[in-house]
Amino acid sequence: MNMKLVFATNNIHKVREASEILGKGFEIVTPAQLGITEDIPETGNSLRANSQQKADYIYQKTGLDCFADDSGLEVDILGGAPGVETARYAGPEKNPSANIAKLLLEMARREMEASFARELGIDTPHATRKARFRTCVTLIIGGKKHFFDGCMEGKIGRKLYGNGGFGYDPIFISEGRDVTAAELTEDEKNAISHRGNALRAMAAFLNE
Ligand code: IMP
Repeated sequence: MNMKLVFATNNIHKVREASEILGKGFEIVTPAQLGITEDIPETGNSLRANSQQKADYIYQKTGLDCFADDSGLEVDILGGAPGVETARYAGPEKNPSANIAKLLLEMARREMEASFARELGIDTPHATRKARFRTCVTLIIGGKKHFFDGCMEGKIGRKLYGNGGFGYDPIFISEGRDVTAAELTEDEKNAISHRGNALRAMAAFLNE
Protein backbone atom coordinates (compact mmCIF):
# COMPACT_ATOMS: atom_id res chain seq x y z
CA MET A 1 0.00 0.00 0.00
CA ASN A 2 1.22 3.52 -0.78
CA MET A 3 2.32 5.75 2.09
CA LYS A 4 0.41 9.03 2.01
CA LEU A 5 2.43 12.13 2.86
CA VAL A 6 1.45 15.78 2.65
CA PHE A 7 4.26 17.84 1.07
CA ALA A 8 4.12 21.33 2.62
CA THR A 9 4.55 23.22 -0.63
CA ASN A 10 2.35 24.56 -3.37
CA ASN A 11 5.33 24.73 -5.78
CA ILE A 12 4.33 22.35 -8.58
CA HIS A 13 7.94 21.92 -9.71
CA LYS A 14 8.90 20.64 -6.28
CA VAL A 15 5.86 18.34 -6.10
CA ARG A 16 6.74 16.81 -9.47
CA GLU A 17 10.40 16.39 -8.48
CA ALA A 18 9.45 14.77 -5.15
CA SER A 19 6.97 12.35 -6.80
CA GLU A 20 9.71 11.23 -9.21
CA ILE A 21 12.34 10.92 -6.48
CA LEU A 22 10.19 9.09 -3.93
CA GLY A 23 8.75 6.75 -6.55
CA LYS A 24 5.89 4.31 -6.46
CA GLY A 25 5.60 3.50 -2.76
CA PHE A 26 4.50 7.04 -1.85
CA GLU A 27 1.47 9.19 -2.57
CA ILE A 28 2.12 12.91 -2.28
CA VAL A 29 -0.78 15.12 -1.25
CA THR A 30 -0.49 18.90 -1.63
CA PRO A 31 -1.83 21.47 0.86
CA ALA A 32 -4.03 22.86 -1.94
CA GLN A 33 -5.73 19.44 -2.27
CA LEU A 34 -6.63 19.77 1.43
CA GLY A 35 -7.98 23.31 0.99
CA ILE A 36 -4.83 25.00 2.34
CA THR A 37 -4.07 27.62 -0.29
CA GLU A 38 -2.46 30.42 1.74
CA ASP A 39 1.31 30.96 1.71
CA ILE A 40 2.84 28.71 4.38
CA PRO A 41 4.82 30.92 6.78
CA GLU A 42 8.64 30.70 6.68
CA THR A 43 10.13 33.31 8.96
CA GLY A 44 13.02 31.35 10.50
CA ASN A 45 16.68 32.28 10.22
CA SER A 46 17.94 28.92 8.96
CA LEU A 47 16.90 26.30 6.42
CA ARG A 48 16.18 23.86 9.22
CA ALA A 49 14.03 26.37 11.14
CA ASN A 50 12.04 27.15 8.01
CA SER A 51 11.50 23.56 6.95
CA GLN A 52 10.42 22.76 10.51
CA GLN A 53 8.04 25.73 10.57
CA LYS A 54 6.40 24.64 7.29
CA ALA A 55 6.03 21.00 8.40
CA ASP A 56 4.66 22.12 11.81
CA TYR A 57 2.12 24.38 10.08
CA ILE A 58 0.73 21.53 7.98
CA TYR A 59 0.81 19.04 10.86
CA GLN A 60 -1.06 21.43 13.17
CA LYS A 61 -3.71 22.07 10.50
CA THR A 62 -4.21 18.49 9.34
CA GLY A 63 -2.70 16.05 11.88
CA LEU A 64 -1.43 14.09 8.86
CA ASP A 65 2.04 12.68 8.24
CA CYS A 66 3.86 15.31 6.25
CA PHE A 67 7.19 16.74 5.19
CA ALA A 68 8.56 20.11 4.17
CA ASP A 69 11.75 21.23 2.51
CA ASP A 70 13.59 24.49 2.63
CA SER A 71 16.38 25.16 0.20
CA GLY A 72 18.94 27.87 -0.23
CA LEU A 73 21.84 28.82 -2.45
CA GLU A 74 25.24 29.56 -0.87
CA VAL A 75 27.69 31.51 -3.03
CA ASP A 76 31.31 31.63 -1.81
CA ILE A 77 32.21 35.09 -3.15
CA LEU A 78 29.09 36.46 -1.40
CA GLY A 79 30.13 34.94 1.93
CA GLY A 80 27.38 32.29 1.74
CA ALA A 81 24.56 34.63 0.64
CA PRO A 82 21.76 34.52 -0.34
CA GLY A 83 21.35 31.45 1.94
CA VAL A 84 18.11 31.56 3.87
CA GLU A 85 17.10 34.65 1.82
CA THR A 86 17.37 32.79 -1.51
CA ALA A 87 13.69 32.99 -2.47
CA ARG A 88 13.38 36.69 -1.53
CA TYR A 89 16.85 37.87 -2.53
CA ALA A 90 15.61 40.68 -4.79
CA GLY A 91 12.42 41.35 -2.82
CA PRO A 92 9.27 39.85 -1.34
CA GLU A 93 7.77 39.10 -4.77
CA LYS A 94 10.14 36.07 -5.00
CA ASN A 95 10.75 36.86 -8.68
CA PRO A 96 13.27 34.38 -10.19
CA SER A 97 14.51 36.72 -12.96
CA ALA A 98 15.03 39.60 -10.51
CA ASN A 99 16.81 37.22 -8.10
CA ILE A 100 19.17 36.02 -10.83
CA ALA A 101 19.86 39.59 -12.01
CA LYS A 102 20.69 40.69 -8.46
CA LEU A 103 22.94 37.68 -7.86
CA LEU A 104 24.94 38.23 -11.07
CA LEU A 105 25.31 41.93 -10.29
CA GLU A 106 26.43 41.36 -6.69
CA MET A 107 28.94 38.76 -7.88
CA ALA A 108 30.33 41.08 -10.57
CA ARG A 109 30.75 43.78 -7.92
CA ARG A 110 32.58 41.42 -5.56
CA GLU A 111 34.78 40.12 -8.38
CA MET A 112 35.83 43.67 -9.17
CA GLU A 113 36.64 44.31 -5.49
CA ALA A 114 38.62 41.06 -5.33
CA SER A 115 40.60 42.01 -8.41
CA PHE A 116 41.57 45.37 -6.82
CA ALA A 117 42.44 43.55 -3.61
CA ARG A 118 44.73 41.15 -5.50
CA GLU A 119 46.49 44.09 -7.17
CA LEU A 120 47.18 45.38 -3.65
CA GLY A 121 48.58 41.98 -2.73
CA ILE A 122 45.62 41.03 -0.54
CA ASP A 123 44.72 37.32 -0.55
CA THR A 124 41.15 36.56 -1.78
CA PRO A 125 40.71 32.80 -1.30
CA HIS A 126 36.90 32.88 -1.45
CA ALA A 127 36.66 35.00 -4.58
CA THR A 128 35.50 32.11 -6.76
CA ARG A 129 32.19 31.38 -8.47
CA LYS A 130 31.78 28.21 -6.38
CA ALA A 131 28.31 27.71 -4.95
CA ARG A 132 26.02 25.04 -3.61
CA PHE A 133 22.36 24.40 -3.07
CA ARG A 134 21.41 23.04 0.31
CA THR A 135 18.12 21.48 1.38
CA CYS A 136 16.81 20.63 4.79
CA VAL A 137 13.79 18.33 4.92
CA THR A 138 11.64 17.96 8.03
CA LEU A 139 9.49 14.84 8.17
CA ILE A 140 6.71 14.52 10.75
CA ILE A 141 5.54 10.95 11.04
CA GLY A 142 3.29 9.75 13.85
CA GLY A 143 3.84 13.20 15.40
CA LYS A 144 7.63 12.69 15.61
CA LYS A 145 10.13 14.87 13.73
CA HIS A 146 13.06 13.71 11.63
CA PHE A 147 15.53 15.80 9.58
CA PHE A 148 17.36 15.04 6.33
CA ASP A 149 19.94 17.22 4.57
CA GLY A 150 21.03 17.32 0.95
CA CYS A 151 23.56 19.31 -1.04
CA MET A 152 24.54 19.92 -4.68
CA GLU A 153 27.94 21.53 -5.33
CA GLY A 154 28.56 23.65 -8.39
CA LYS A 155 29.35 27.12 -9.65
CA ILE A 156 27.47 30.15 -10.92
CA GLY A 157 27.66 30.79 -14.67
CA ARG A 158 27.81 34.24 -16.28
CA LYS A 159 24.79 33.87 -18.54
CA LEU A 160 21.42 32.11 -18.43
CA TYR A 161 21.09 28.80 -20.29
CA GLY A 162 18.23 26.29 -20.54
CA ASN A 163 14.48 26.22 -20.06
CA GLY A 164 14.04 23.40 -17.54
CA GLY A 165 13.84 23.47 -13.76
CA PHE A 166 13.04 26.67 -11.88
CA GLY A 167 14.53 29.42 -9.70
CA TYR A 168 18.30 29.82 -10.18
CA ASP A 169 18.67 26.72 -12.39
CA PRO A 170 19.59 28.69 -15.58
CA ILE A 171 22.80 29.98 -13.91
CA PHE A 172 23.71 27.00 -11.70
CA ILE A 173 26.29 24.64 -13.21
CA SER A 174 26.53 21.52 -11.09
CA GLU A 175 29.93 20.00 -10.39
CA GLY A 176 31.32 17.85 -13.17
CA ARG A 177 28.85 19.21 -15.75
CA ASP A 178 29.29 21.80 -18.49
CA VAL A 179 25.61 22.67 -18.57
CA THR A 180 23.26 24.44 -16.19
CA ALA A 181 20.66 22.65 -14.09
CA ALA A 182 18.06 24.15 -16.44
CA GLU A 183 19.64 22.20 -19.32
CA LEU A 184 19.49 18.84 -17.52
CA THR A 185 16.53 16.50 -17.95
CA GLU A 186 14.32 16.13 -14.87
CA ASP A 187 15.83 12.69 -14.20
CA GLU A 188 19.40 14.00 -14.52
CA LYS A 189 18.71 16.87 -12.13
CA ASN A 190 16.88 14.69 -9.59
CA ALA A 191 19.78 12.20 -9.55
CA ILE A 192 22.21 14.84 -8.25
CA SER A 193 20.12 17.62 -6.74
CA HIS A 194 20.10 18.85 -3.14
CA ARG A 195 16.40 18.02 -2.81
CA GLY A 196 16.98 14.65 -4.52
CA ASN A 197 19.67 13.74 -1.99
CA ALA A 198 17.61 14.85 1.02
CA LEU A 199 14.42 13.12 -0.19
CA ARG A 200 16.26 9.89 -1.02
CA ALA A 201 17.60 9.89 2.55
CA MET A 202 14.03 10.38 3.80
CA ALA A 203 12.71 7.57 1.55
CA ALA A 204 15.48 5.22 2.75
CA PHE A 205 14.49 5.99 6.37
CA LEU A 206 10.79 5.39 5.66
CA ASN A 207 11.50 2.15 3.77
CA GLU A 208 13.55 0.72 6.65
P1 IMP B 1 12.38 27.29 -0.83
O1 IMP B 1 12.25 28.31 0.24
O2 IMP B 1 12.77 25.95 -0.35
O3 IMP B 1 11.18 27.25 -1.73
O4 IMP B 1 13.58 27.68 -1.80
C1 IMP B 1 14.13 28.92 -1.80
C2 IMP B 1 14.48 29.35 -3.19
O5 IMP B 1 15.62 28.61 -3.60
C3 IMP B 1 13.46 29.11 -4.29
O6 IMP B 1 12.53 30.12 -4.38
C4 IMP B 1 14.31 29.06 -5.50
O7 IMP B 1 14.55 30.37 -5.96
C5 IMP B 1 15.60 28.48 -4.98
N1 IMP B 1 15.69 27.05 -5.28
C6 IMP B 1 15.37 26.02 -4.48
N2 IMP B 1 15.59 24.85 -5.10
C7 IMP B 1 16.04 25.16 -6.33
C8 IMP B 1 16.43 24.36 -7.44
O8 IMP B 1 16.38 23.14 -7.46
N3 IMP B 1 16.86 25.06 -8.51
C9 IMP B 1 16.93 26.41 -8.56
N4 IMP B 1 16.54 27.20 -7.57
C10 IMP B 1 16.11 26.57 -6.44
